[in-house]
Amino acid sequence: MDEVQVPLTEPAVAKYTLNEEQERKEIIRHYRALLKSLRPKLKKGDKELVRQAFEMAAEAHKTMRRKSGEPYIIHPIAVAMICVEEIGLGVRSTICALLHDTVEDTDITLEDVEREFGIEIAKIVDGLTKISSVIDTNTSQQAENFKKILLTLTDDPRVILIKLADRLHNMRTLDSMRREKQLKIASETVWVYAPLAHRMGLYNIKTELEDLSMKYLEPDAYKDIARKLSETKRERTRYINEFIRPLKDKMIAGNFDFEIYGRPKSIHSIWNKIKKKSVEFEEVYDLFAIRVILNSPPEKEKEDCWKVYSMITDEYNPSPERLRDWLSNPKSNGYEALHTTVMGPQGKWVEVQIRTKRMNEIAEKGLAAHYKYKEGSNDEDRFDKWFGQIREVLSAQDTDGVDFLQDFKTSFLAEEIYVYTPKGEVKMLPTGSTALDFAFSIHSAIGTKCIGAKVHHKLVPIGHKLRSGDQVEIITSNKQKPSEDWLNLVVTAKAKSKIKDSLREEKRKIAEDGKYTLQRKLEAMGAAFSQYNIEELVQFYKLPSSLELHYRIATKSLDLKELKDFQVLGDKIEIPKPKPTTIETPPVYDPNKAGSKKDSELIIFGESSDKIMYNLAKCCNPIPGDDVFGFVSTGKGLIIHRTSCPNAAQLMANYGHRVVKTKWAKNKEISFLTGLRIIGLDDVGVINKITNVISGDLKINISGLSIDSREGLFEGTIKVFVHDKEELEELVTRLKSLDGIQTVDRFDTEN
Ligand code: MN
Repeated sequence: MDEVQVPLTEPAVAKYTLNEEQERKEIIRHYRALLKSLRPKLKKGDKELVRQAFEMAAEAHKTMRRKSGEPYIIHPIAVAMICVEEIGLGVRSTICALLHDTVEDTDITLEDVEREFGIEIAKIVDGLTKISSVIDTNTSQQAENFKKILLTLTDDPRVILIKLADRLHNMRTLDSMRREKQLKIASETVWVYAPLAHRMGLYNIKTELEDLSMKYLEPDAYKDIARKLSETKRERTRYINEFIRPLKDKMIAGNFDFEIYGRPKSIHSIWNKIKKKSVEFEEVYDLFAIRVILNSPPEKEKEDCWKVYSMITDEYNPSPERLRDWLSNPKSNGYEALHTTVMGPQGKWVEVQIRTKRMNEIAEKGLAAHYKYKEGSNDEDRFDKWFGQIREVLSAQDTDGVDFLQDFKTSFLAEEIYVYTPKGEVKMLPTGSTALDFAFSIHSAIGTKCIGAKVHHKLVPIGHKLRSGDQVEIITSNKQKPSEDWLNLVVTAKAKSKIKDSLREEKRKIAEDGKYTLQRKLEAMGAAFSQYNIEELVQFYKLPSSLELHYRIATKSLDLKELKDFQVLGDKIEIPKPKPTTIETPPVYDPNKAGSKKDSELIIFGESSDKIMYNLAKCCNPIPGDDVFGFVSTGKGLIIHRTSCPNAAQLMANYGHRVVKTKWAKNKEISFLTGLRIIGLDDVGVINKITNVISGDLKINISGLSIDSREGLFEGTIKVFVHDKEELEELVTRLKSLDGIQTVDRFDTEN
């Protein structure tokens, strides 16, 4: 997958077919290397199975070539090699890796695979096939696709590990692809696969995926940092040696069996630091980290790590905020280590990572290493718990793709914190979790009744963000029930889906009243309360469902007075022929007409995007400068009320979800029309993100917006009104910092 296969006869690759004998030897050489690294894991009969898989794949891919011109079979062999060498997977995964593209791209069927290798392998190959077909369809529905990928992950984690190996090999050989394809694959990699590798505990693969992506996405920055790293290498090595020397002496005197070395940080992580802190390369202090690897027996691991910590901090002064103890509380992907940052020679901060050989292997090979150390360790539970949580969320129905992906990213790919229950039980939660998330993580019945919490005995609101080490006690009330805005107070997928469930339940209850009202109205007209009539009304009011119709009637947000004009034939209602339009269009904010119109300086920020339509409320007549809010009415667009309006309290209390924050624009007189061209990855909600930055964060008006998307990339042109260059530059910087955006360039709107 991710490969365009060209037939052997294509002229462009003809030169590679000249020496078939040599090519065959090359394939065999790769295959032998694979067998060699697999050797320690081979049991009786395994070798034959592997050979059978190799022969099946080689035969099936016989006429195919990669874009580079290589015989296609080199790719599955390389993927298998990554599985064995870099992820530590075994024989069955090797077989799956060899076969991973056969069902998708060749005549081999899943039944063939099952017949030859059994159901277990067929299932994994099936999972890999599904992943490739969802990823490669060039749609912009990345979110929906990704959900499917993760659904297959729940069957067997090996599916995702082999997929990561596949992606890694494709990234390593991306050079021969078209530029457009390179950008798409690289974006997808940095956006989905690198975080996934991180979450599976595959730190080396994660780093390499990020670096390779950057090489294609930001070639200049990549080359620049790579060059500077190599230019400063000698100086760095000297410093590292100076730093290490006294530590070595101490550890030798302490009879430790250890390795200590300096390790450069990845180009991608250095680049992130440069961007995040807007500093120069020269100012990034942690270009490298010092790693101490101890060879300790299992029962002395923790003690030894702390002893070494103590030796290091005797020599160099540690920064108290930078101590990370993943010995006592390993990350849920299994990572264990002790990290500290100390003041080294010449007043430089240096990060030191202390871990044992076992921990190091887990850090490098992730999950697979877990299996190896399974006996007598409880880290396995931690991973299983995490995996179980993913399964739980995935099995929850009716989350749509976009929400799901967002939830997944924040819940499972984010870094995590650990917090304690009043009884001292540890809970792992994603960074950014609130008291409410915590409540839902204990039990949904506690979540829905949560009114607040005590953190270290101090009262906090439900939206309070928790920090590692917090001890949290949830306070509940039977009168409490979830509201729409709770969705903004939580980050975990579990809490979100439980809140949605409960809102839906509540809505259903309210809708019952509306249903009754409607029944009376219809019967009073002589019409039946029938399925037919209800569907007619749902269509007439352009609503998604009868539930929505009943709900709106119950909440009086839908007026049934049109019913008077309806004819009744038999017991069926006759919908009058549609008038041109029943909804009057509210004024549209047009900066060109700025000046005399007093309401023209209103800017709305929040969810709204390009065009802002609004009316000023008659009840309180707001003017510029008043404290205002917007209310989303049915049919009339946004209505602006003063916060001191007599109706304000009632509106906000009952329809909180329809209230939008609004604000008057700064009274800058003139603005200029200018255009931006944006190129990026066509991912979920990218347009929303862009418009949110422009009209939301920066309160700049959009005059026109067009987006073209092709093969997963989009190109958009946006015309905006800005007051000065500074404002424009601020806008460009903000847009560039969005995930998935490649370039933002200014263009003259006259052209
Ligand atoms: Mn592949």
